[in-house]
Amino acid sequence: MSLRTIVAFHAHPDDEALLSAGTLARAAAAGHRVVLVLATSGEAGLVGESVLGGDDLGPRREREARASADALGVARLVLLGYGDSGHEDRPAGGWPAGSFCATPVADAAARLGAVLAEEGADVLVADDARGGYGHPDHLQVHRVATAAAASRGIPLLQATIDREFLAGGIELARGMGLEVPEGFVPPDVTHWYTPHDEVTHTVDASTVLAAKRASMAAHATQATGAPDTVRTLAVFLGLPEEIFAVAFCTEWFVSDPSGPAVPDDLVEELFRPSAPAVP
Ligand SMILES: [Zn+2]
Repeated sequence: MSLRTIVAFHAHPDDEALLSAGTLARAAAAGHRVVLVLATSGEAGLVGESVLGGDDLGPRREREARASADALGVARLVLLGYGDSGHEDRPAGGWPAGSFCATPVADAAARLGAVLAEEGADVLVADDARGGYGHPDHLQVHRVATAAAASRGIPLLQATIDREFLAGGIELARGMGLEVPEGFVPPDVTHWYTPHDEVTHTVDASTVLAAKRASMAAHATQATGAPDTVRTLAVFLGLPEEIFAVAFCTEWFVSDPSGPAVPDDLVEELFRPSAPAVP
């Protein structure tokens, strides 16, 4: 078995917990080198004052990112230090200076590309083309990752969620009487993430659910405290163990068939080709 280097690139601390944590934990446990690169410190995230206790959110979320990285076995955490662009669409006056979205794609891709070169990365994992649920920083991650992977000639695996699985999960949660976070309502999800038929690879995370849960729990500011909102992470962390296992035992990826192929040994071991849809 050859040992590989896998770099994951996300916008904010906690994106890895939701999209790629199981994959990173499995790769690290198998002895591969796993590097996590975050574009921002997520300082525009929602949080309650009582949780912060006078701290600034950015440094607090950086510490949470380190705790998450440790839980997953990440060998190196790189914080690129761009400003969080916020979850709203582009403001009338343009993106805030220094924010990730205000940064030219080529500039950020050069910085990510330098990490990929330094690490001799074999594969880059990053957000999908819809930016998941459409956060501007997630869309920018996709653009930057696409450019950086192309410049290094390595495959990009876009971390996503099977849209039909997500819609079914929301239905199930409602049926169980669980509170569903605002925004998680059709027709929104019909534009989110990736239709089942477009998923190209899946990773079985069932053996590393404890690490994935620990990664989520590390992001305490995102699981507690913001007034008047149901926090997605809090809902997930509150799920009974057997429901958590069903919800989080799979991670989904999309690779570009015209790009470099994922190395065969990694396909064999980790990134399994997605089963075609039943007609
Ligand atoms: Zn995010």
